[in-house]
This record gives sequence, structure tokens and C-alpha cells, in this order.
Amino acid sequence: MRFPLHITTDTIWHQARQALRGNRRYPYVLMLEPLYACNLACIGCATERHTGKVADRLSLEQCLKAVEDSGAPGVSICGGEPTIYPELPQLVAGIIARKRHIYLCTNALLLDQKVYGVIPPHKRLTINVHLDGMRKTHDRVCASEGVFDKAVEMIREGKRLGYHVMTNTTVFKDTEIGEVKALCELTRSLGVDGMLVAPGYHYESVEQNIFLTRDEIHAKFKKILGFSKHYRLTSTPMFLEFAAGLRDLKCSPWSTVTYTPRGWKGPCYLIGQKYTHSWEEFWTGTDWKYWESRQDDRCQNCAMHSGFEASGVREARQSPKEMVRLAAWNLLG
Ligand code: SF4
Ligand code: SF4
Repeated sequence: MRFPLHITTDTIWHQARQALRGNRRYPYVLMLEPLYACNLACIGCATERHTGKVADRLSLEQCLKAVEDSGAPGVSICGGEPTIYPELPQLVAGIIARKRHIYLCTNALLLDQKVYGVIPPHKRLTINVHLDGMRKTHDRVCASEGVFDKAVEMIREGKRLGYHVMTNTTVFKDTEIGEVKALCELTRSLGVDGMLVAPGYHYESVEQNIFLTRDEIHAKFKKILGFSKHYRLTSTPMFLEFAAGLRDLKCSPWSTVTYTPRGWKGPCYLIGQKYTHSWEEFWTGTDWKYWESRQDDRCQNCAMHSGFEASGVREARQSPKEMVRLAAWNLLG
């Protein structure tokens, strides 16, 4: 199975409960950014995400309140680099106690010091390692030598210790798709449990011309779609077809809500037009209909999984044939 059974059943129950309540929009994943400090400064990362101070982090109580307020069954702990969040063991335990599934998104540099031997493996914990290419490319993207080798070593160690380990790859303008395929081969040989591949988003704070236009996304993802069946990619076929330009989707920015040291980030993971510490104000005050339509200039070259995975699943629910396809993709992956 592509996703463990408890994640699949939790997600189905969550959707059924929301449907019974008559809710059309609801979060699937909380992107929890407990701090904006990092031990790297990657070239494609929004500047504000890695230039903050540990002292300005969210408290443990604020993080857990955000988990409860959002109601999302999945919590992606990112940042910044979450392994330098001092209260990480308590945060992981608190989220697991609330029966949510955690994706710990990390550059892997501190996994051996802060996670392995400190936070035990658990079926509700997935380690999600950032890996943007093979050695030369990944180290260039991370602006630091040796990051690739350490990440591979930590993936191998995580699997040996019994953790559920995935990888997360961003495709940039100069990414060679042959290299993405080589990365798929490598992660398969390491025994990773899943691999997320998504196009990068052009953050306003990043000046370099490294991001893809919509046409470039389509061209690269057509090739990725071609070999996707042979690997454990976690993107749904609907999302990959959208990224390849073979189907159109509205955005679902409400499906992935983001809580940061500045508060709830609206409208989406990528655009911080307004921040508020009140869940109510964020949820009821964001013009979801406007952002779903993708008419804003900042949405033109966006094909981020955080906005469109849920749209693909929603569309699939309208067609029994697509539902069978989605179920087969998960069961046979
Ligand atoms: S490791 Fe993550 S948070 Fe840190 S700079 Fe790189 S992309 Fe940004
Ligand atoms: S299209 Fe992208 S940038 Fe626009 S609202 Fe959706 S996720 Fe955000």
C-alpha cells in the first residue's frame, strides 16, 4: 500500500465526518512552522523561513492549539528546521496523543542528534527528508557541501532503526528530469516509503531566476508522469496529470493551512498576505472563492501539491471510475 492503512482510514473518516457536517472546505494537512530558524540557507527557500531566531519560536502550547483548531488529520512539522526546535520531542508526543499523523520535514543534518534515540519510531510519525537531486545538485541547492551524503546516511539509518521515511524533492528550472529518475532509483534502493516530487514556487523574497513557468512545469511533469508508475511517488495520478498540463483544477488553498511564528498565514502556504493568531479570523476572513479561482497574478505559475492535491481527490470523487483508479493507485503502490 502506498500509504499505511491508518493514514488511509483516518483520511476517509475525516472526509466522511466533514461531508456529514455539510462542510465543503476543510483542512487535510496543517503545515506547522514552529520556528523560522535553520542550519541551512537553501537557494529556493523563502528568506523569512531561515533567517529567524530560535528565541522567536512558537510555544509548545501554541503549536498544539493550532493542531486542535485546524482539525487536520495530518500535521507537517516544517519551518525553518524543526530538529532545532527545543521542544520537538514534546511536540511530537502531543500530536501523536491527539491521534494525528506527523510528517517531520527536515534537511536531515541533525536527525542522529535530535531524533534517532530521542523520539522513538511510531506508526504516526514519518520522517520526510528534503532531497532535491543527486550529490552535486543537492549540495548546490542547499548552498553547502556534504548535505547530500549526510541526508543519504540519515535515510539509511532511519530505515535501519524502524522509522517510516519519505523524501521530498522540488523541481527547479534547471532540474534535469533524468536526474529525478536517478533519485527515484536511489531512494528505492534505500527502501524509502514514499517520494514527493513537486515544482518549486517563486517566493517574492527569492530573486534568483530558478523557478518554472507554467509551460515549463507541464513539460517537465509530462516526463515525470511517464515513469511515475515505476516508483513510490506519493503524488496522486490526478495531481501529476494536472502538473503535466493534462487536466485543469481549481486550487484548494484551505486544504493545507499554515501556522507560523507570525500566526495563521493566509491565504496559503506560499502567499503570506495576512497573518493572524486567531483561527476564526483566518478561516472566516480569507476569501477562499477568490483564491480557488487562481486569478491572482501570484497564482499564475503555481502547481504546488499543497494547493492542488486535494482538488484532484475532490474531482476524483465525482466519478466512480476515477475513485477506482485512486483506490488502485493507493492499494497497489
Ligand atoms: S533546510 Fe528547509 S527551511 Fe532550511 S533553508 Fe533549506 S529549504 Fe529552507
Ligand atoms: S494557486 Fe498556489 S499561490 Fe495561488 S492560492 Fe493556490 S496554492 Fe496559493
